[in-house]
Amino acid sequence: MRVAIIGLGASGTAITTELLNDEQFGENDRLDIFETRERLGAGLPYEPEDERVLINTSPGALSMDKRNKQAFTDWLNTHISSDKDFSHWFAPRDYYGRYLNDHIQPYLADERVHVIKQRVKDMQILNQDGEVVYNQRHLNHPYYALQTTDNTWHQPYDAVFLAIGHPPYRDPYHLREVENYIHHPAPLKENLAYLNAEEAIGIIGSGLTGLDIIRYLNHHYTFEQPVTFYIRTEPFTTVIQPELEEEKPHSLTREWQAEQLETYGGIIPLQIIFEQIKADFKAHDITYDYILENCGSGSIEQIRHQVNEADPQMQAFQKYISGLYPEMSALINVLPTSDRQEFFTHYSKKIIHFLNIMPKETLELVIHLLDQGQLRIVSGLTDIEKTDQQFTLTANNDTYTADVLINATGFENRLSVAKEQDAFIKTLYEKGIIMADEVGGIKVTWPYTQLISSRYGQLDHVYTLGTWILATQFPNNAVSSNVRQACRIVHHFLDTYEE
Ligand SMILES: Cc1cc2nc3c(=O)[nH]c(=O)nc-3n(C[C@H](O)[C@H](O)[C@H](O)COP(=O)(O)OP(=O)(O)OC[C@H]3O[C@@H](n4cnc5c(N)ncnc54)[C@H](O)[C@@H]3O)c2cc1C
Repeated sequence: MRVAIIGLGASGTAITTELLNDEQFGENDRLDIFETRERLGAGLPYEPEDERVLINTSPGALSMDKRNKQAFTDWLNTHISSDKDFSHWFAPRDYYGRYLNDHIQPYLADERVHVIKQRVKDMQILNQDGEVVYNQRHLNHPYYALQTTDNTWHQPYDAVFLAIGHPPYRDPYHLREVENYIHHPAPLKENLAYLNAEEAIGIIGSGLTGLDIIRYLNHHYTFEQPVTFYIRTEPFTTVIQPELEEEKPHSLTREWQAEQLETYGGIIPLQIIFEQIKADFKAHDITYDYILENCGSGSIEQIRHQVNEADPQMQAFQKYISGLYPEMSALINVLPTSDRQEFFTHYSKKIIHFLNIMPKETLELVIHLLDQGQLRIVSGLTDIEKTDQQFTLTANNDTYTADVLINATGFENRLSVAKEQDAFIKTLYEKGIIMADEVGGIKVTWPYTQLISSRYGQLDHVYTLGTWILATQFPNNAVSSNVRQACRIVHHFLDTYEE
């Protein structure tokens, strides 16, 4: 068999590991990996970066070794400090990137593996005779060909794993090509290095990227004038609370899901899921109204409250939702179609708000800088224009100016817009190989996340991972969820592959 992985970040690494560790991948089989980044295995979030930029997950949840949950902690003990307790520590992203790179090395040395340091720019679907097929639906055992930027075609592949990471950054104010607008801020140590203290700096958005930028600026910028977060509504998400020892288990187990599917004829209404979660809250003494009132908006007042002392309600809530996290994708995919739409219109943002947890130290820094007048927050942002040398920003009918603007608005998941920033995605979209999911990103099947094409139907053994498929594998915003899905799809391929 011949397999291609496009992209070698954490997801591509997990796929490689799983494939090569399985004896069904034999000595005559071949794996081609396409990746241009120098630090193989790490991907966009964990490339070489300033050490102030932190991961927001504790090391125990970041192991790439299924048999050893402590693998990243062990790496930290070997490479950083042998006598430090890393269990509740948030490591620099750079360290995690180094760990991933170390982890992948022995696999890359395997003679069945070929790393091709080129971006993939096109894909073709082939029939069993190796001929290119343009319009046939539900082909029996298709093969795939990939073209790289040097115009070479690589083929034939039995399976292709699109581990291409995140959609491009959003460009809500159409500033992408404008001078002094930093559209793609990562890695910060390269893109923000030239900022100087005479410049008025604005950051658009105050999510996790905005906080990374503040941590970086705190060490490399003298704040002669305040840095400003320009945002639309409330600024932050939620602060990580000290983890409870005691479990807060959920009752939406596989058995519960099977019973409900039986009762409702193959779907589970959103209302039934909400009622079950409410019952769990009651059993764990979690008052959701309290959570909303004290942590639901991410206002400065709420953040001050969360930073000042551990909140037992929030601790219980965070423990509960982290336990429910692995079931969320399964639950989203059994919703009736209209409930799924309703979920993504009204509820998904709130869930992301509670899942995008932020290290306490970073919020303490934010509060300190706000209190010192070195940081300010302007909300109600509606418009940005570039006039002469400066940007003019409009918020709540007032105007503000900035010399440099840094984009921290998150990822563009509307395929029809995002394709303009990614040539490969654009080609796949225009050729009808990928199609948009109605609530965002790329449409795939569940649970094996294979591409659904408007032209070919389901593309057998073409799997997709990562934030591009957020609407199906919700809320895959952590390494752990991508690793779980990588294992699932590798085994699906190996178990269904026929020569
Ligand atoms: C800034 C940031 C911080 C994050 N922090 C955390 C965190 O603290 N904890 C956590 O659990 N999760 C975090 N995440 C979530 C993140 O989604 C996962 O951690 C994980 O790293 C994603 O891995 P990936 O391999 O899917 O994507 P990526 O790491 O983005 O890797 C995709 C790779 O595909 C390559 N590629 C793309 N297109 C092509 C092409 N056409 N041809 C060849 N190669 C291609 C890219 O070069 C890239 O290396 C963070 C995400 C971001 C963006």
